[in-house]
Amino acid sequence: MKPAPFARHVPKTLDEALKILAEVAPEDGRVLAGGQSLVPIMAFRLAKPAHLVDINEVEGLDRLSSDGKVLTIGARVRHGAFHKPVTDNPLGALLSYVARHIAHYPIRMRGTYCGSCSHADP
Ligand SMILES: Cc1cc2nc3c(=O)[nH]c(=O)nc-3n(C[C@H](O)[C@H](O)[C@H](O)COP(=O)(O)OP(=O)(O)OC[C@H]3O[C@@H](n4cnc5c(N)ncnc54)[C@H](O)[C@@H]3O)c2cc1C
Repeated sequence: MKPAPFARHVPKTLDEALKILAEVAPEDGRVLAGGQSLVPIMAFRLAKPAHLVDINEVEGLDRLSSDGKVLTIGARVRHGAFHKPVTDNPLGALLSYVARHIAHYPIRMRGTYCGSCSHADP
């Protein structure tokens, strides 16, 4: 099957993305991150969002940083970013261990941590 018709928005900045999301939210507007969950369910028409806000070109969302106490994971950080420990503390080793068990390599290089935490259900 193929997805139902939808409009794709490609913001370049976070402000632009948030503005569009606010506008399209009432019409089932959704974030498109790695597409690993959303695209298949759209193809089966289990989800029919009228708008997709594609965050793949939004500046800065791929930032992953740690100050030793707080780990900040941008909305476009892929699972693959955790293949190697991202911090020197035990959390880095734990996330690296977990990441290597998520799906398989191509999905980890595209799917995002934030997308995995969000509901893809219609
Ligand atoms: C075969 C297969 C096996 C998998 N195995 C595992 C596994 O073992 N463990 C695991 O944890 N995951 C697993 N996944 C999930 C995968 O790791 C992806 O993380 C997941 O598909 C969603 O991430 P995505 O970036 O592709 O999100 P998308 O498919 O783009 O989006 C998924 C949902 O999240 C919403 N969303 C995405 N980003 C945001 C955001 N920043 N803010 C608000 N909403 C957002 C979208 O609107 C959508 O509703 C698997 C996926 C597949 C296809």
